[in-house]
Amino acid sequence: MRVKAVATGFGGVSLTVECGESFALDAGAEPGTEKVVLTHAHLDHSLMAPGKEVYATLPTLALARELWIDAKSLNPELPWTVEDVQRTLSSAKRAPYGRPFRIGDALVTFYNAGHVLGSSMILVECSGRRLLYTGDLGTASFLLDHWVKEVPKADILITESSYLCRDRPSAKKEWSRLHAYLKQKLKEGPVLIAANAVGKAQEVVKFLMNYRNSLPMKNVILEGMGWRASKVYDEMVEYLKESEVLSWLNGSRMKLTEFAQNPSSLGERVELTVPGTVVVAPSGSLSGGMSVWWALKGLPYVLLGHVFEPASQLLAGEEVSLEDPLGNVGTVGPPDLHLEISRHASRQELLTFISKVGAEEVYLVHGDEECRRAAEGGKFKALWDGEELTFSPGPLSRGATAPS
Ligand SMILES: [Zn+2]
Ligand SMILES: [Zn+2]
Repeated sequence: MRVKAVATGFGGVSLTVECGESFALDAGAEPGTEKVVLTHAHLDHSLMAPGKEVYATLPTLALARELWIDAKSLNPELPWTVEDVQRTLSSAKRAPYGRPFRIGDALVTFYNAGHVLGSSMILVECSGRRLLYTGDLGTASFLLDHWVKEVPKADILITESSYLCRDRPSAKKEWSRLHAYLKQKLKEGPVLIAANAVGKAQEVVKFLMNYRNSLPMKNVILEGMGWRASKVYDEMVEYLKESEVLSWLNGSRMKLTEFAQNPSSLGERVELTVPGTVVVAPSGSLSGGMSVWWALKGLPYVLLGHVFEPASQLLAGEEVSLEDPLGNVGTVGPPDLHLEISRHASRQELLTFISKVGAEEVYLVHGDEECRRAAEGGKFKALWDGEELTFSPGPLSRGATAPS
């Protein structure tokens, strides 16, 4: 079995596997193969998949559809068309968790990664070797089951490493900071929470729903892609955590899109700009989308987890000039609050995961380059862009890269 990394930094991720046939695990970068197995919908894993023959879970396809169409409208230069998206979706092979399927000589199985709805880690069994690729590994969630419920064993592990080198405060502590902040601030006026559309936005809305009786909250607005992705969460209930499925079965589950509202006009938004309104809007980094419109309206705002420009400049205390989707331009100052709320496994969770998989070889992808370099040697190896690994058949002790 041969494995080749295409680009494994914070940019696009794709691994090519050769096992009787070539296929890619993720397509954040051009995979160079026709067959692509997707871990989840986020564009750093799926952007180059339209036009290919895709294998994925049902929610991954539904969420990717929204993200692909949005990406194309923002960047018409992308090397695929909306027709490619339709063709890929109608020919895509759907697979649920835990049910193996075959590509070439490989047996491929999805396992819940608990990162966003339908997110998977991928187990590839080939010539007696078990290779596990995590995609993005999740963390505790209000909506999704944790991966810890079922961790497959593997000989070779290729894992994301976003938080391997930096600890973050407990999620419980961060959510209670948000609670304390909203409890005070909502009495004075509306508040904006800038959140990634797929993953974080749904967690925030579910948090607000859970604590609605202890907050001076009147309205929850959910914008754009955050709203469309939440529709998918509400429709594909069987991929939510067990407690959600049970409350759905007994008829007591409140949908995210029933609890929150999606205003249809600017006039409606202006009317809702009152104390007690929480706006949850992408993008989480204020790089575009309605979060910018609301920030330019002067709402105090909250940032969540790892952010990119321009939010990273705002976090550094700078004032930044922004343009909203309607073409309004203005200056925004630093956020009121920055919370370390992430959909990625924490350092401790990553270490627990790695030890549960029990692999003899562990490769780090998709994380801080410096961290991966520092972790290299000993137990971990980094897998760099363009690097190729070959694993010979049979038990791992005879493997090409294992000590002989
Ligand atoms: Zn992701
Ligand atoms: Zn990712």
